[in-house]
Amino acid sequence: MTRKEIAAVLEEIAVLLELSGENPFKSRSYTNVARQILQSSEDIAELVREERLRELKGVGEALEQKITELVSTGKLQYHEELRARFPETLFALFDIPGLGAKRIKTLYEDLGISTLGELEYACNENRLITLKGFGPKMQQKVLDGLAFAKRHQGQYLVSAGLESANALRDWLREETSVSQIEIAGSLRRRKETVKDVDLLAAGSDPDRIMARFVEAPGVETVTSRGDTKSSVVLASGIAADLRVVSGAQFPYALAHFTGSREHNTALRGRAKEQGLRMNEYGLFHGEDRLVRCEDEEAVFAALDLPYIPPELREDRGEFDVESLPELVQREDLLGVMHCHSTYSDGRNSIEEMAGGAKARGYRYIGFADHSQSAAYAGGLKPSDVERQHDEMDRVMEKVAGIRILKGIESDILGDGSLDYDEKVLERFDFVIASVHSKLSMTEKDATQRLLTAIRNPYTIILGHPTGRLLLSRAGYPLDFDAIFDACAKHRVGIEINANPHRLDLDWRYLRTARERGVRLCIGPDAHSVEGLDDVDYGLGIARKGWLQKDDLLNCMDAEELLAWRRTK
Ligand SMILES: [Zn+2]
Ligand SMILES: [Zn+2]
Repeated sequence: MTRKEIAAVLEEIAVLLELSGENPFKSRSYTNVARQILQSSEDIAELVREERLRELKGVGEALEQKITELVSTGKLQYHEELRARFPETLFALFDIPGLGAKRIKTLYEDLGISTLGELEYACNENRLITLKGFGPKMQQKVLDGLAFAKRHQGQYLVSAGLESANALRDWLREETSVSQIEIAGSLRRRKETVKDVDLLAAGSDPDRIMARFVEAPGVETVTSRGDTKSSVVLASGIAADLRVVSGAQFPYALAHFTGSREHNTALRGRAKEQGLRMNEYGLFHGEDRLVRCEDEEAVFAALDLPYIPPELREDRGEFDVESLPELVQREDLLGVMHCHSTYSDGRNSIEEMAGGAKARGYRYIGFADHSQSAAYAGGLKPSDVERQHDEMDRVMEKVAGIRILKGIESDILGDGSLDYDEKVLERFDFVIASVHSKLSMTEKDATQRLLTAIRNPYTIILGHPTGRLLLSRAGYPLDFDAIFDACAKHRVGIEINANPHRLDLDWRYLRTARERGVRLCIGPDAHSVEGLDDVDYGLGIARKGWLQKDDLLNCMDAEELLAWRRTK
């Protein structure tokens, strides 16, 4: 079991205990240990083997036994018994913002609500207005949450989609009759959320390829199986389609199954103008004379187009050849700018994070731990800042070949001010200003709050600018015109937060931002060494937003970046 999976079971026990009306201390002890496990740098399975679990804060005899059972057998009877007390459907209520264990307990016990449908019905009957712990505002919030959940039903984060897709692709590659295989669809276009996984293969023995596909690890149901197309549903709930074509058809099929519907319509229109006909099997003169193309590039060339990178295939101007950008690439990224360490809520030390960044080929790493008012995340008091800077100096002496930039992720307080006084702020190489609290705001209030933070001379980057969490929380509304203009004027970069749950700023705004003269910055918001790899999702979004190397702060080298900051 992974660290995350162990912690998730313990967290769920905490919730189940709360739902059962047990002593809150008991529930909290599970939450605390779950957090310990997430933050510990030890291998939990090793702790179990060596009977050292009690070294984790808060683990006594009872929890030691339970974690041992969980890690050695993959399940925990106590957890399953607790879970059996409540209907399975009740857990979906936790996805609605504002609903925690306490409120869900009230809904379940007082109104007998155990499904999302029942909850919606009760809201429409105004039953939450007089319910203990609710009220008219809360009822509206629940209704908004239900509408949001409905809109996003059946969607998955790009990270979940890619994980499944990569595993399936690697599994299929081992079938010897496969000559080509690619991930297609919205995943190839790097959409932030996806409905399913689309795979396209070419090979000499479709039957054997399909046989291997339906037997892939993680396949739970086979929806359909044919010679050219099969569909399955994976254990994660995500559906996956595989299409198999001949080697000659592959380039046309790849273009067809990658483009958005709008892009494909435009592409077919273009073909028609040139007297050609285009579908997933080929590009034809008249009825059936094939225009031979070796690869996807040749398909575009046959239509008199340069190669259009998959991320741009949304019919948002990519056919206007003159303005097609030279998109930023992985090797253009010289540093990572938004990293946490054990000084706040990160899992790895400064040295481990710096080593991780160096191993990934970066020249510098910018730490931005949480500031003092973020007590929930172990925010840094001014004295901690001092200790951290000393440690960074020591690590820089020890680890050659990577530079450390001393930053902070400062909370933007309710009035838009930053979280330290000037004396502390001036000691950082850079300040990322982010909103972490009081997220329900009108557009006017949210915009004012951010504008105040942007005008602060110490702010260098606006972190996760809208506060959205994909598939679970919409961001606060903003007047983007005002924000972009202020950022350009005050030389404040806007983050593309690369955490797959955020991917904020949304790619749909990036082109406008750059046209207004705003610089952007891909920030992994890494809370562990592996978190540095989230940069890849941010890069996909940057490319999708038409960004080039010169648009991104982290394509500058460290000196250039610091100079850019100083000229503010
Ligand atoms: Zn943050
Ligand atoms: Zn952060």
